[in-house]
Amino acid sequence: DGLSTITAPAIDNLSQHFPLCMQNLHQTLRRDSHLKHFGRLQYTLFLKGIGLSLEECIVFWRRSFKLIQDDKFNKEYRYNIRHSYGDVGGDANRRGRGYTPYSCQKLLTEPLPGPGQAHGCPYRTFEPDNLIAMLQRTGVSDRDLLKGVREDVGKQRYHVACNRVFEHSHKKEMKKVKDDGTWSAADLDTIVHPNTYFKRSWLLKH
Ligand code: SF4
Repeated sequence: DGLSTITAPAIDNLSQHFPLCMQNLHQTLRRDSHLKHFGRLQYTLFLKGIGLSLEECIVFWRRSFKLIQDDKFNKEYRYNIRHSYGDVGGDANRRGRGYTPYSCQKLLTEPLPGPGQAHGCPYRTFEPDNLIAMLQRTGVSDRDLLKGVREDVGKQRYHVACNRVFEHSHKKEMKKVKDDGTWSAADLDTIVHPNTYFKRSWLLKH
C-alpha cells in the first residue's frame, strides 16, 4: 500500500498525516534536535506502528539528534529504540514484538507532561489558546471548527475535538469513499488510536 517501505527521510513528509500529538513531538524534535524520554518513547512506538523498521527508526533518531555524538547516541539512545521494538530486553513474551503503540485512552490518562516535555495529547495538555495557535500553524483555520474545538476541550472531550479536526480536514475524501461505497461506516468509526488517525488520513489522501 506504499507504506510497506517507509524510510527515515520520508517521515517529514508523512507527518502531514499525523494527529496533533505526534505532530507536536515531530515539530519539537525538529526545533530542538532532541526529545525527552517519554516523548521519545511515545513517538518511537507510533513510528513503529506506522511501519518504520527498527533499522530505519535508528537512522531517523540518529539524524534527528544533530547535537549528539555517535558514542553518546549509541550508549544512551540506541538501546531504548531497540527495546521498544522488542529487539533487546523484556520477558520472553515481549521479545520479538516489543511494546504496543499507545492508544488515545492511554495518552489521555497518563500524568501530564512537565516543563520541556512534549508527550501526551495536546488537546488535553495545551492551554486552549496555545492549542488553537498550534492548530492554525498546521493549517486548521476554520473559525466554526476552532470554536467547536474550544467547546470540546472545555468539556474535556479531547478525542472528540481530535475527530472533529480529522473530519474537517478530510471532508471531501470522506464524502467520496462514502458515496462510492468503497468504505463502510465501520471504516470511518471514531478514531481512538493515533496510528488509526495516520493510516486513515494516508489512505484517504492516496
Ligand atoms: Fe493523539 Fe488521540 Fe489526542 Fe488525537 S485524541 S491528538 S490521536 S492522543
